[in-house]
Amino acid sequence: SVKVNDKYYAYSADNAIYDEGEYGGVVTTIMKYLLKSGTVDAVLAVEEGFDLYDAKPILITDPEDIIKSAGSLHCGTLNLAKFLTKYIDGARDFKVAVTCKPCDAMTIRELMRKGRIIEDNVIMVGVNCGGTLPPVPTMKMFKEVYGVNPADVAKEEIAKGKLIVETKDGEEKGIKIDELEAEGMGRRENCQRCDMNIPSNADIALGNWGVIGDLAGKATFVEVFTDKGAEILNGVIDEKLIETAEPIEKGIEIRDKINNIMVKQASKQKEKDFAGTTGDILDVLNKFKKDMSTCMKCYGCREACPLCYCEDCCLETEGPEWVPGGYTPAAPFFHLTRMVHMVDACTNCGQCSEVCPCEIPVSKIFATVNNKVKDIFGYYSGVENDDVPLPFTEFELPDNR
Ligand code: FAD
Ligand code: SF4
Repeated sequence: SVKVNDKYYAYSADNAIYDEGEYGGVVTTIMKYLLKSGTVDAVLAVEEGFDLYDAKPILITDPEDIIKSAGSLHCGTLNLAKFLTKYIDGARDFKVAVTCKPCDAMTIRELMRKGRIIEDNVIMVGVNCGGTLPPVPTMKMFKEVYGVNPADVAKEEIAKGKLIVETKDGEEKGIKIDELEAEGMGRRENCQRCDMNIPSNADIALGNWGVIGDLAGKATFVEVFTDKGAEILNGVIDEKLIETAEPIEKGIEIRDKINNIMVKQASKQKEKDFAGTTGDILDVLNKFKKDMSTCMKCYGCREACPLCYCEDCCLETEGPEWVPGGYTPAAPFFHLTRMVHMVDACTNCGQCSEVCPCEIPVSKIFATVNNKVKDIFGYYSGVENDDVPLPFTEFELPDNR
């Protein structure tokens, strides 16, 4: 039977799911099993909206609808933790399985730690992630740099250090991701800093790295991280819903090697992003004073942040005593208050930068201070560090939830 740390190659035994799935449809098969067996009441995943640049969160309760969520959307820049807390009350009243990229998983773990998401009611099915692409700049890049009409793109993925685009007529073009990123294109800037590519904080993690031999491109690599994950995989195998094979040793090595390269690259990016400041809040605000001066007080960064939940602080930061009406930029109190309240929790998910209409590098600013918090308190947001006390005070809602 399946145990924690077990590794498999796997693919779906359901032909329709296999065809629609990214690498064998294992995630989709697991989700269908969880719904059908009544293990969960709903599945939270992502489906394609208007086109492959448009990723939408979807809450599925009918097992027959689950196939809609198959496939990977690399321009899917959303964070599902926000959906969990904002729309389904942190899974307080029902059980849900969530597909998580590492940043979704980190944010969900952080919110579990803070009592905002109920751990016992959530199954985290992780997918590896080497980074997401910002939808609008990516369409522009495909048109201007790849010479491809964005509407003709059938598939895009990062493989062997290149961003490869495949058109609907089967043409393929790849450009080195390093070269694109040196020119300000490629992955989102927070993803370039991210050093968690395999979500080891989820119950189970799936990805294509390390699948070599006959199953390359046809199966996914599965790694189990918790007893909950082991029990689920056992159930799926027992019901003969997936085929499995033992991973090839060389494949395991390749997966580790790619992961190590990505972690090193992220480390270099962090050095670059955090340079020129001590990381102390006031020093960082000072360094980014010019960027911050364009803030137009839309409060979008706060709304988008999956870790910003304190209602009292929200109102206070908008109060006329801190932010006089009719003036822009916002007094630094708004950013300062938000930073003091949640910077220990920041998981570098990039939602704030994603929405900022003034293109302020909000995520980089918060990550710079969060890095200092990690140094001082040894608290790593979103990963297993239950033995380390929370650095800052939590703010409780009136009913102590
Ligand atoms: P499927 O059965 O096709 O299911 C895929 C699941 O992912 C579905 O539940 C779907 O709703 C969900 N999903 C799709 N897009 C998103 C999104 N943007 N955010 C959250 N959930 C989403 N594997 C690697 O080994 N290396 C990588 O670098 C890598 N990068 C990835 C980047 C992204 C943005 C995503 C979403 C996945 C990435 N993967 C990567 C994982 C890989 O693409 C497959 O998801 C994995 O192998 C499982 O395949 P499957 O056929 O079992 O998944
Ligand atoms: Fe200011 Fe940008 Fe935040 Fe809006 S999203 S409040 S402009 S920093």
